[in-house]
Amino acid sequence: MSHCLADALAIVNQRIEAAMLQFQRSPNSVQLLAVTKGQSAATILQAWQLGQRQFGESYVQEALPKLEVLNAYPIVWHFIGPLQTNKLRWIAEHFAWVHSLDSLKHAQRLSAQRPAELPALNVCIQVNVSREPQKAGITEAEALELIPQIKKLPRLQLRGLMTLPAYTDDFEQQRQSFRQLAEFCKYLGTLGHAFDTLSMGMTDDLEAAIAEGSTLVRVGTALFGQRN
Ligand SMILES: *Cc1c(COP(=O)(O)O)cnc(C)c1O
Repeated sequence: MSHCLADALAIVNQRIEAAMLQFQRSPNSVQLLAVTKGQSAATILQAWQLGQRQFGESYVQEALPKLEVLNAYPIVWHFIGPLQTNKLRWIAEHFAWVHSLDSLKHAQRLSAQRPAELPALNVCIQVNVSREPQKAGITEAEALELIPQIKKLPRLQLRGLMTLPAYTDDFEQQRQSFRQLAEFCKYLGTLGHAFDTLSMGMTDDLEAAIAEGSTLVRVGTALFGQRN
């Protein structure tokens, strides 16, 4: 195998540590979510054995067999992909987190379908800070309306915000998108909506995200190589 997962994981963790140091983030304030879309259950298990605990999947159809195979492992599964109404029950039954919440209808269903024996489902609202029409997520104004409604749902725990900004390789522009989400989060705090999670930053922009206060970076390519 040309791609060594142990090395890749160490390098990503070093990148996170270096950025935390550079941007004066407090210890343990940034977590790594390993994004495993396109990767096999065997690869996920390998990452688990290297100490990685949180994994993100984007498509129910693809995740289903992997979660079944890995059922015995106490993996923290995050759903980060587009939500489809007919797949919400399975997500509510099998995931600890959903990052891509962007409608009340989906929130209501997830809450209703969350099994009673499980803790409340952790959710983040996906905000489309770059306003790209082809991307999921809602505007800040829409989020502002949605938040109090989600907070009323008994089986959801609203933890924060997620974004996937327009691609740029310019560090300052990357920071600007993430700052927009972080500032919005601060503003929500002044309205009495205190959140502990900012899900932002991927392989190409995790340093900029950490500079702006990300608490969880979602990394695929840097860990597992290019997806097919
Ligand atoms: C695929 C994906 C990632 C990981 O992206 P990389 O550039 O491979 O690190 C992160 N977040 C979401 C929502 C994704 O779909």
